[in-house]
This record gives sequence, structure tokens and C-alpha cells, in this order.
Amino acid sequence: MPVKAKPASRAGKVAKKTMTPATKNNTLKLKFDTSWTYAPAPESKSAAIINKQYDLFIDGKWQKPLSKTFIDTINPATEEKLSEVAVANEADVNKAVVAARNAYEKVWKKIPAKERAKYIFRIARMVQEKARELSIIETLDGGKPIRESRDFDVPTAANHFFYYAGWADKLEYAFPNRKTAPLGVVGQIAPWNFPLLMAAWKIAPALATGNTVVFKPSKTTPLTALKLAEIIEEADLPPGVVNILSGVGSTGDAIVRHPDVNKIAFTGSTEVGKMIQRAIAGTEKKLTLELGGKAANIIFEDAPIDQAVEGVINGIFFNQGHVCCAGSRLYVQESIAKTVIRKLKDRLESLIVGDPLDKNTDIGAINSRQQLETILEYIEIGKKEGAEMYQSSCNLPKKGFFCKPTLFTNVAQSNRIAQEEIFGPVLAILTFRTDDEVIEKANNTPYGLSAGVWTDKGSKVFNMTKRLRAGVVWANTFNKFDPTSPFGGYKESGFGREGGLHGLLPYLSLKG
Ligand code: NAD
Repeated sequence: MPVKAKPASRAGKVAKKTMTPATKNNTLKLKFDTSWTYAPAPESKSAAIINKQYDLFIDGKWQKPLSKTFIDTINPATEEKLSEVAVANEADVNKAVVAARNAYEKVWKKIPAKERAKYIFRIARMVQEKARELSIIETLDGGKPIRESRDFDVPTAANHFFYYAGWADKLEYAFPNRKTAPLGVVGQIAPWNFPLLMAAWKIAPALATGNTVVFKPSKTTPLTALKLAEIIEEADLPPGVVNILSGVGSTGDAIVRHPDVNKIAFTGSTEVGKMIQRAIAGTEKKLTLELGGKAANIIFEDAPIDQAVEGVINGIFFNQGHVCCAGSRLYVQESIAKTVIRKLKDRLESLIVGDPLDKNTDIGAINSRQQLETILEYIEIGKKEGAEMYQSSCNLPKKGFFCKPTLFTNVAQSNRIAQEEIFGPVLAILTFRTDDEVIEKANNTPYGLSAGVWTDKGSKVFNMTKRLRAGVVWANTFNKFDPTSPFGGYKESGFGREGGLHGLLPYLSLKG
């Protein structure tokens, strides 16, 4: 009787080896299936400590919310409750702003810049030390694969603190012959797709430039920001310099409208960004908006095709497509379209969708039921618009919020799936013949956050990057981030830059 290798229990490909151990003439026959898989390699949850309940971190202390309200935060891969977190109301926000103002006037703006640097450096080191725990919590709370939180989110967050710690006492070199001054109290509001990294993007430059902070994470992914509050407490940062308030949209609104906040840094949807812009119109508050995107990835016929296909896959399926700069539109030159689409479909089949804590997983859970419904609605819209859908044949886990990686061909430029941000693992593929045509099409959305160009010719790279209306253009790569590089958008993708030297500017006033 044939002996079958034990199939793995999880979704994905199983290395099914069908073996006939002994035959009549005593020869060993091995037959290999074309389908195979990896053995499960789950990261352990026990390395992460999550409290049952979290209060608000105000003035260096954990304080009960005046709202007396808590909300659950769940694991989107299992739908199990992880913890409950306080919801800050207007009175809580006011308490945090008062603490931040006191800390600014009495401590933070007075201490020497090199001392500020030491605190930020200490936070960076502690993020590194707690990297494993932070990665596990990020994955549990947000649904992203552990490989991403471990290899991208947490190290990049630590790097941002290191980078801006370096600038704190060198602002006179960053802006030669100018006098720099901090703005005061800054309100910072973050989305759910890169919770810890967004906190680092915002808090590190604000502290380096001498401001104090009231930070609000997203309601679906508050846990790593609250862990960061624990780190800040342990790092002995003076009370009130950083205040972390979990909450909902009205918490963010109360921060935006508070009269004693000098600057708002917002990352999130274009819709909420516009509301914030209206709310602060006529005030002296400074504002930076990092909003949505609909990035075009452009493959020319002379591109290294396999490399480009891998870049496109990484560009849209990385973090379930929950990326503002996701390459959600692919423009492929007509002569190579057939080959590229075939290779993309093949690659889609090999992506492992499932348990985000498993180190083999490529695509984890969608962040929330609501976001999953939005994505599924867009998939229906794509079909109704007449585009041709192709989905991976993988099995999805029975519990949790999961979506098959999906691509659409025969997409028209005017289709909603080619114009609107889906924020999920859905790729719209269009074709082009000439450079002028692809520039026209790629720039034809309300957004302008990022883009990618794949070609063998350096001159073409420079020509295209000049003409693409996008804040970041990657050439022969995609989704690469570094604390030294500025990031931000044009048009409805927002304004202002985060990262690099440019990321210091929104937190300073320059004189002289
Ligand atoms: P969202 O706009 O719904 O929420 C973002 C944050 O704003 C949350 O903390 C939310 O509680 C808060 N908020 C909601 N209503 C508010 C109000 N009226 N006033 C003040 N704050 C309010 O966005 P999301 O769904 O959490 O995140 C996804 C969006 O973020 C996508 O559009 C994505 O493109 C964008 N994003 C942009 C960047 C970038 O750098 N450009 C980065 C990450 C995400």
C-alpha cells in the first residue's frame, strides 16, 4: 500500500511525497506531487504580555478615562478579544494637552538638545530590545504576517527613533544660517496599517525638534502604541512629554479642535484628512496630511520581467494591500502583457494565506470585518464593471477576516477599481503602448502618493520619474523605506513630508 507523507494541516502548498516503499521486484519507487507545502512554523504568543485592560497614558502615568468607556481590541485572524482599551473623550484630551503644555514650557523646551537626543536614543534601544514582543503584538492586533512585523515594522520603527535622535542636537547643521524653534504641543493621529511604525514616524521627529506630543492610535490597532507608552515610561521621559490616548474618531476630532494644540500631524484616509483641514481652517495650527493612494506600477517591455513580477506582488500583496502606497494599479506594456499576467497568476497560486503568526505566511488577516466587507464590495464592483477576475485557489481559514489575493485584467482606466483606493489585496491590470500614454493614465487619479517604474534603461527611469505626479517613485524596486528618505504625497494624497531631513520641518519654525 502506498505510504503518503503526512500532509500539513494548514492552507498553502504541501510537500506531498507519494512513496511506494516496496514493490514485487523489491525496488523503491518515489513519485512526487507537484503540490507541496511548508510545515507550520508559528511564533509563540507567550513571548508577548498583553494586559487585560489599558488606561490612558497621560502626564507619565496610567490614568482611568474620564469617559469611563473602554472598547475591545480583537485579533482579526481569530476574532478573539485581546484586550480592552480606554476611549479618551474631550475631557481626557484636554487633560493630556494640559500635561503636554506644562511639560513643554517647564521641561522639554528648556533642556539641552543633546539631553533630548539621549531620551530618544534610549527609546530606540528599548524598541530594539523588545522587538520580538512588539512584533508578536503587532501581528496579533493587526493581522499582518509576523515576517513583516518582525522584519519590517519594528526594526524600521527603531531606526526612525535612532535617526531622529541623531538630529536633535544638530538642527543648526540641518538648517544652516537659520534659527529653529519648536512649535509647542503637537497632536498626532495614526491609522491601523502600520501602528508602531506610524507612531515612530510621528513621535521621533516631534521630540527631536523639542515639541511635546499627544498621540492617538487607531481604534483597531492600539496595542503597540500602548506598549510604546510603557517603553516611554520605562525610559524615564519627563512626564507629559508624550501622552498616548487610545480612542475613536471623536478622540481624534477633540485633539484637532483643541485650542492649545499648535500642530496636527494626521495619517489616514483622504475623507478624514479633508474634514481635519476644514476643522482647522482659520486657526494658526500647522498641518501635515498623509492620506490615501492608488499607486501605478509601470512595467516596460525591456524590464527584467521576473524581478518586476516579484516587485508587483510585493507591492500589492505586502501587508494584505493595507498600504497607502500599495502598487494597486499595474500598467504593463502591451507586447509583454500576456507573459506578465501568466507569471502573476502563477505567483498568486504560490502565496500562502493564513495564520499571521506563522513565519511562512505571505498574506495574513484583513484588519477588520468592516475593511473585509469594503474589499469584497470592490471585488464585486470590478466584476460588474466588466473586468475579468482571477483569484488564488487557496483555502481561507474558517475563522477570522481573510481575502484571497485577487487580480483583475481587462480593466478600463475609468473603472472604479482603477481609480479608487481599495486598501486590500486586489490588483487592477491595464496595458499601454507608449510612454506618453502611460504617463497620462498613471497620473489620472485623484491621488499622487507613490509609483514604480520597471525598465532596463536609466534614461527612461529619469524621464518617467520627472513626469509622474507622485511623492515617491521607486525604480526597479517597490515599497522600500528608510528613515533618511522623505515620504509624502501630492494632490489628494496630502501634503508635508515625513522621514529624512524634510520630516523635521513640519515640527519647526525657521527664522533668519
Ligand atoms: P481613517 O481616516 O479612518 O482613520 C485614521 C485615524 O483618524 C484613526 O486614528 C481615526 O480614529 C482618526 N479619526 C477618524 N475620524 C476622525 C476625525 N473626524 N478627526 C480626527 N481624527 C479622526 O483611516 P484608517 O482607515 O485608519 O487608515 C487607512 C487610510 O490611511 C487609508 O486611506 C490609507 O491610504 C491611509 N494611510 C496613508 C498613509 C500615508 O503615509 N500617506 C500611511 C498609512 C495609511
